[in-house]
Amino acid sequence: MNYVIPQPLQPSLPIRGTNARFPVRRVYCIGRNYADHAIEMGHNPKREPPFFFQKNSDNIDSSGEFPYPRETEDVHFEVEMIVALSSGGSDISAVDAMQHVYGYGVGLDMTRRDLQFEMKKMGRPWEIGKAFERSAPMGPLVPVDETGHIESGPITLTVNGQVRQNGNLNQMIWKVPEQISYLSRFYDIAAGDLIMSGTPAGVGPIHKGDVMECRVTRLEPFFVTVV
Ligand code: MN
Repeated sequence: MNYVIPQPLQPSLPIRGTNARFPVRRVYCIGRNYADHAIEMGHNPKREPPFFFQKNSDNIDSSGEFPYPRETEDVHFEVEMIVALSSGGSDISAVDAMQHVYGYGVGLDMTRRDLQFEMKKMGRPWEIGKAFERSAPMGPLVPVDETGHIESGPITLTVNGQVRQNGNLNQMIWKVPEQISYLSRFYDIAAGDLIMSGTPAGVGPIHKGDVMECRVTRLEPFFVTVV
């Protein structure tokens, strides 16, 4: 291909235990998907239709370092299980959804909470609070044939060894197959798409020098240092 500018790098994630990489296409993120987190954010956790926003694929970062971002004084962690898709389509039923899952990972939906709140207050889009440089730290993916489908078990985050988030994947209001099915009604989902499946209660601010340890059952812990 004869591009008129240098071709941007294809964002990708490592696969645990191999040199292979998973090319990332889109990053969908579900909002308020654990009742106790919805409550802490001031919302009613009843089962309303899910809602999604997106991060940019080039916001993902597996370096284990998170540079404190610009234009904010209140950056929050949100530990989330990542679902990676090996295929997709449209109007996928929840019953058929899991055949599209390549594997799972541990990630962070880092959020400039002050900017997000400002935008919410004004009824404006959230991107400035969510989809900024290196806002999606993620560990290596693990294929589903090594983990099985992950539906329940602990999801936790510690900061400097102190437990801050301590949930269970079975507390998701919208389960992973429902998330895939719902997304596929509104978008053509495809191989390379990631879904950040929501965060349990306990989100909070980080500061330079903090070390976050993110854990999802059956996956390796993922450590991120704020620099
Ligand atoms: Mn989130």
